[in-house]
Amino acid sequence: MTPLRRKLKAVMESGISDFRMIRPGDRIAVAVSGGQDSLALLNLLSDGFGFVTSDYSLLAVHVDMGFSQEEPSNGRVLEGHFRSMRVDYRIEKTAIADEVFSGRLRKNPCFVCSLLRRKRLYEIADREGCNKIATGHHRDDIIDTLLLNILYGRKIGTLYPVQPIFRNRLTLIRPFVYIEEARIKRFAGESGLPLLPRLCPQDGSSRRATVKDLLRSLQRKEKHADLRGNVFKSLYHVELKSFQALTQGQDFT
Ligand code: SF4
Repeated sequence: MTPLRRKLKAVMESGISDFRMIRPGDRIAVAVSGGQDSLALLNLLSDGFGFVTSDYSLLAVHVDMGFSQEEPSNGRVLEGHFRSMRVDYRIEKTAIADEVFSGRLRKNPCFVCSLLRRKRLYEIADREGCNKIATGHHRDDIIDTLLLNILYGRKIGTLYPVQPIFRNRLTLIRPFVYIEEARIKRFAGESGLPLLPRLCPQDGSSRRATVKDLLRSLQRKEKHADLRGNVFKSLYHVELKSFQALTQGQDFT
């Protein structure tokens, strides 16, 4: 085991244990989009842990968006990868890409896209007898989502480490809650995980990408501050009194 793999497993265990993400007997659908985060998650979950329970089974699930330019399709590459890992898997071909990008221009295609993808994923996990769904969302996704919600959603909130969904039939878990994106990318490179082409025309111009750019440019000016770290830690220091004082007797909606 490489030092990086050992470190990531240890940090994952902290997150899994802190939020009681996995229980003995769980059947976990791992959402594999094809990005390095989800492939790294599947890889790291596949050989169990030292302290938290390893008594769980995995099902890799890929919802194929149906981008027409896929050749060879990412789904086919992933199928080969799942087989080489000897992991149980389901690959579902969909026409979500057509729905999201054809017809009248949508104001926010990412919103519709993730809604449709999530719905499909939940249906597959439920159908296949899973009680949990693990996603590769990491600490930076939590930070970006918090800022996205404030800047565009007019609310303060972010991704939950553990979240009951689908009328409580399933629980969403995010074992990378404490892990930074850069470390996951390094691990994916070191482990030789497949690097699939990004096929979405919206990729790189989404609001999420804008928030990432914003933080990057701020960080360049604040060389001695850990801005991302500060945003994450702010979630542990919420001054409820200041919200109450601000909103008392006033309706800001
Ligand atoms: S970038 Fe593309 S694939 Fe990702 S959520 Fe937006 S529309 Fe969907």
